[in-house]
This record gives sequence, structure tokens and C-alpha cells, in this order.
Amino acid sequence: MLDSLFLRLEELYPEMVEIRRELHSEPELSFQEVKTPKFIGDYLERLGIEVKRNVGGRGVIGVIKGAKPGKTVALRADFDALPIEEETGLPFASKHKGIMHACGHDGHTAILLVLAKALAEHRDQLRGTIVLIHQFAEELAPGGAIEMIKDGCLDEVDVVFGTHLWSTMPLGKIGYRNGPIMANADRFDLVIHGRGGHGASPHETVDSIAVASSVVAQLQQIVSRNVNPLKAAVVTVGSFHSGSAFNVIADQAELTGTVRTFDSEVQELIIERIEQVTKGICDSMGATYTLDYKKGYPAVINDEEITNHFVKSVESVDDVSLFEMEPVMGGEDFAYYLQKVPGTFFFTGAGNKEKQIVYPHHHPKFDFDEKAMLYAAKCLAKAAIAYGERMEVNGNREVQSI
Ligand code: MN
Repeated sequence: MLDSLFLRLEELYPEMVEIRRELHSEPELSFQEVKTPKFIGDYLERLGIEVKRNVGGRGVIGVIKGAKPGKTVALRADFDALPIEEETGLPFASKHKGIMHACGHDGHTAILLVLAKALAEHRDQLRGTIVLIHQFAEELAPGGAIEMIKDGCLDEVDVVFGTHLWSTMPLGKIGYRNGPIMANADRFDLVIHGRGGHGASPHETVDSIAVASSVVAQLQQIVSRNVNPLKAAVVTVGSFHSGSAFNVIADQAELTGTVRTFDSEVQELIIERIEQVTKGICDSMGATYTLDYKKGYPAVINDEEITNHFVKSVESVDDVSLFEMEPVMGGEDFAYYLQKVPGTFFFTGAGNKEKQIVYPHHHPKFDFDEKAMLYAAKCLAKAAIAYGERMEVNGNREVQSI
């Protein structure tokens, strides 16, 4: 069955490209997707696939029931775009000013739709059930995943797989990793309130710039002095705005920053230390502060057993070579699926220096090598089919039937 499925995917590759380009030219922002979910729902319905629309808001679910009993495997693709003005000059560039598919979610959607077509055609040989999760709003917290899960997209699901096309990884590479692969990505906004006054009379003021500078300097100590050196963490102050004239002591200073961690204990420690450090410095210098800390998506933590299954299944796929990758400090709401069911999220190399496809994600010139879509589809198909064919043996212990 796999040979015939792969052959069909190769045949359908031009359709995959066509769908990707069509979606690319009509990008829609997170939580504003209308045409894209309609396109997805209509496409799946035409294939005779059972479709649920408006899942958790704007999501679409398709269910392909194989003719033979087996596991239920979910495959997820996100479909939202970003508020970026496209500068690729591609013939299928965005038709909408200031909106662009600059993260490859157009590709993710094309992969899953065409894979659905090939799988639906092989229903009579398919063991188990495939749940297609087409997710809205990945780019903007709180994201679409939480609501789709609440609305039941993972009910009955045994395992979940997802991938991200990755333009800074060469075409043909597949990056996997056991455990944490993407970070907790948080944001904080900190305002230091001093007491402004004449630059010549500092003794009559509380200098918010002096206070905020001490805070910035002391925040650097958290990772170096409080976090276990064997755990990864970042505390970055990304902006510092204060003051308006050379001879005026600024009344307040505004800081923004991000915290990246893989471990929730480290995350909690850093949140606590930011508050303590800021409070201590402000108290000692007569200032006050407001701290708004927003937790972003949790870390994406891959299940070890499922990741091993993925590696074993995909090893034999032609055209791709697997490697164990370093974690990425970016965030992804695929994390929420993995909190509910075991699964794995992998990266599909889509960069190509010869074709000048070198720009990173979220860049106005971002693009990816479309061939990567075919490779991703094959890897998802192989991992899903092999898992669907697993048989229960002796209660918990499971072996593959092939
Ligand atoms: Mn993305």
C-alpha cells in the first residue's frame, strides 16, 4: 500500500504546488480566517471525507476511516498568515497588502490536503483512522489549538504528528528530537515609575532611567546566577524607552522583553526572580513599577517512544535524511496537542541556497523549496500508517504488525 500511496503523492505533487500557490496569494490573519477554512472544508468534502467545520472557532477537521480496524492518528497543519508586507516578487505573491504567508503555513495546508486525497483513495487498504486537523491562528496567542482541543479534535485520538517546513534547514533534511524541541515563549512589559523633575536637581526627583538601568543590569544575573546551568533559559530586554530632553529627569521608563525556557520550573523561577529583582531595586530607590508578564505557548515536548517510532518509520523514506536537531527557541501551539496525547513534532528542511531560498521565517522575502512539501507528506504518511497498523499485544505492550 505504501508504494502505491507514495506513487500517488508523486503524481499529485503538481496539485500540491497549485494549492500552495493559491493559498499563498490569499493569506488571512490569525482569528480572521474565512476563505481558507472554506477552501479546506470544500476540498475535503469533494473527496468524500467526513468534515467538521468551525471547530473551536475557525478550525476544520476531516476524518478518514480505514476499512480495517486500528489506531487513530491525528495529523495537524496550521493555515494562518502574518501581518508582513511581502517582498518576494513571486508571481503568486500575496494579493493583500500587509498580509503574507511568511511562515510556510500555506505549504502545511497543501501537504495535508493532498495527503488526505491520497489516503482517501487508499481507504480500502487503510488500517485505523486518520484525523486531519486543519488549525487556524497559530501565529497569535492564545492560538487556535486550545479551542480546537476543547471542541473535541483529539477525542479518540491515540497519537498526533505535525511538522514545520523550515527554510533555514536544507531541503532533504528531516530534524527530529526526543523531549523539548521548541520553547516556552513569554513576554513581559515593565514600567518603572519615578518622579520627574529638573535635570539640575536630581535630589528632588526619582530618576526612572537610573532605576530602570539597575533593573536591566540585575535581570542579567537571573540566568547566570539563579538558573541551573544544565537548563536552557533566556531573559532578553528587547526595548527600553524613556526620557524626552537632555535636562529633564524622566518620570517613567518602559521596558519590554522575552523569556524563553523549556522547563516550567525554570519558567516559574524566572518569573518570581524578575518580580523580586524589580521590587527590590524600586523599593530601595523610591520608585514603583507595573509588571505585566504574559505566558506564551508552553514548550513543545515530544514523546520519546513516539519519536523513536517516527525515526524507525521514516528512516527508509527515499530522498530524506534524518538527524537529531537542536531545540529551537521559538514557540508553537502544537505544544497543547502534546499535553493531551503523545506525539512528535518534526522539522522538514525546505531551504535551497542554489535557488536563493535562504531567508528565515517571518521575513518579507521568506520562501521555501516546494519539493519539501512532498517529502513532508511522505514522512507524515509513513509514520501515520505504521502507527495505525500497530496491534495491541499483552495489554500495554505494543508491536508493529508489519
Ligand atoms: Mn509557523
